[in-house]
Amino acid sequence: MSVTPKKILNEVFGYVEFRGAQAEIVDRVINGGDALVLMPTGGGKSLCYQIPSMIRDGVGIVISPLIALMQDQVDALLQVGVKAAFLNSSLDVNEARKVEQQLRNAELDLLYVAPERLLTPRFLDLLSQSKIALFAIDEAHCVSQWGHDFRLEYRELTILHERFPDIPRIALTATADALTRREIIERLSLADAKQFVSSFDRPNIRYSITQKTDAKKQLLEFLADHRAEAGIVYCLSRKKVEATADWLCGRGYTALPYHAGLDAATRATHQKRFLREEGVVIVATIAFGMGIDKPDVRFVAHLDLPKSVESYYQETGRGGRDGAPADAWLAYGLSDVVSLSQMIENSDAPQERKRLEKQKLDALLGFCETIQCRRHTLLHYFGEHYKNICGNCDNCLNPPKTWDGTVAAQKALSCVFRTGQRFGAVHLIDVLLGKKTERVSQFGHDQLTVFGVGKDQSEGQWRGIFRQLVAMGLLQVDMEGFGGLSLTETSRAVLKGERNITLRQEQDAPKRSRQTRAVDRAGISDTKKNSVEISEIDEPLWQALRAARMAIAKEQGVPPYVIFHDATLLEILRSKPQTTSEMANVSGVGTMKLERYGRAFIKVIADF
Ligand code: ADP
Ligand code: ZN
Repeated sequence: MSVTPKKILNEVFGYVEFRGAQAEIVDRVINGGDALVLMPTGGGKSLCYQIPSMIRDGVGIVISPLIALMQDQVDALLQVGVKAAFLNSSLDVNEARKVEQQLRNAELDLLYVAPERLLTPRFLDLLSQSKIALFAIDEAHCVSQWGHDFRLEYRELTILHERFPDIPRIALTATADALTRREIIERLSLADAKQFVSSFDRPNIRYSITQKTDAKKQLLEFLADHRAEAGIVYCLSRKKVEATADWLCGRGYTALPYHAGLDAATRATHQKRFLREEGVVIVATIAFGMGIDKPDVRFVAHLDLPKSVESYYQETGRGGRDGAPADAWLAYGLSDVVSLSQMIENSDAPQERKRLEKQKLDALLGFCETIQCRRHTLLHYFGEHYKNICGNCDNCLNPPKTWDGTVAAQKALSCVFRTGQRFGAVHLIDVLLGKKTERVSQFGHDQLTVFGVGKDQSEGQWRGIFRQLVAMGLLQVDMEGFGGLSLTETSRAVLKGERNITLRQEQDAPKRSRQTRAVDRAGISDTKKNSVEISEIDEPLWQALRAARMAIAKEQGVPPYVIFHDATLLEILRSKPQTTSEMANVSGVGTMKLERYGRAFIKVIADF
């Protein structure tokens, strides 16, 4: 073989080494074997079929349900000089004919097609007349009727195996659970495929979860570290999405709302601006996400709790696909737990389903309250054993202090009991603090023995205590939907003094500022640094490099990350190449990009 995979990796894509199992997967497919690849988002799945398509004779057919992404993927390939095209409903008849002609003339290395197009007799005919290198089935979990991305056409893809038995197939997905994996193998007849299962860790994502005190203020503090960067802010309701986006705009951010209540045209414009412009913040309900593969999302902030650990992983996973550092930040408080519990309870779902959702919420709360490494806890939830502590989550960077909260827990539980197990935390705290509010007097709660026994703690601390007691299952949110708290089976042991309770110390003061973050980081290894943070000295050059990238992108009508990913631009900033051979050493700069853009960026550096 004259062109080796490694040579293509180095020269075309500009990367030094294959990552994880990439080399093995590429070899397997080049040699004609089938493969099932389970790799997290941002793991590097694309190269696993792109390189074999370039090496094997014929064209690689990539089946993907995400029409919006095909254009970007093809643009990115054209940038590095790979002959690629796509066929889907966004093309008009003439454009489609042109691509078909390219296929007939064997001019393509890669062709992306939507599944419904692939399955047409016309296209299958065309395929039988063409030389095919491989079939790549992207987002393979779409065959699973249990997932929310189910696509009927994916079930029919076995036709590829039947019609083209000698052509290797590679199925790829970022959904790893055992059930989905079994379904993929069965539904796509991949029993003989070699399986490649990667770790689902996303090392460049920094997880932090904080108690909600003043959500807006906290969000602003968080965003201050991400000025001019693209990110997603998730909220539970449409109303909150609108209000938050408005409010952020008033603070000088380019913030756009996105939810299912907006008309299709507005949604499309906002999505497009998010992809094409830099520094756009999308404020969204979970309606936003599927099919958004913007690689340079630098943060994902949750102003409300996700529904489960799975949702948390998936939503935060939209950050940092390009491998450069990204922040996942969540602020939550007791009232969120209450409203989510009520939402579950008040839905029309059958009891069985409600129970399951409640369990999922409990698991999420456990994750939020953990004092252990977040990554460890998260991966453990997915059945993966993560050996170390990560050094890149709030609990690792800033280990939470704990205290013996047994007495405080007893006071809180006893207050719930004495007041009749029907009041919410606000009233209970008033009683504990000995506040004679109208309600307290009305119910005679100032006559109770628990009245005023909690003056040793602040109101904020009590909120934290109640939240943790709910998360620990020592209190439950009432089922009638008024947010009242009541005791559970397990509360008794605490009240009787048979069980000690360790609580996490609430941090009253917000802990994120640039300074403390820099100090935080002093102790962690280089590779773990959240290094998108640019020093003040480098800032002007960084902005100049970004501006140069944007100018080129605009000229060509592509998103900036198609020119260079953030990770590549950051390396240019750090190494400040002055010659083309120095530029060639930057990861992500292959032959073609060097030729096309090398000089422009060297000039930006030289002018500084
Ligand atoms: P996935 O499809 O698994 O989400 P991609 O294929 O889009 O991931 O790759 C994610 C990022 O990692 C891209 O920016 C890609 O260029 C980069 N990448 C992939 N493989 C390598 C590698 N071997 N070395 C350096 N960067 C890589
Ligand atoms: Zn950690």
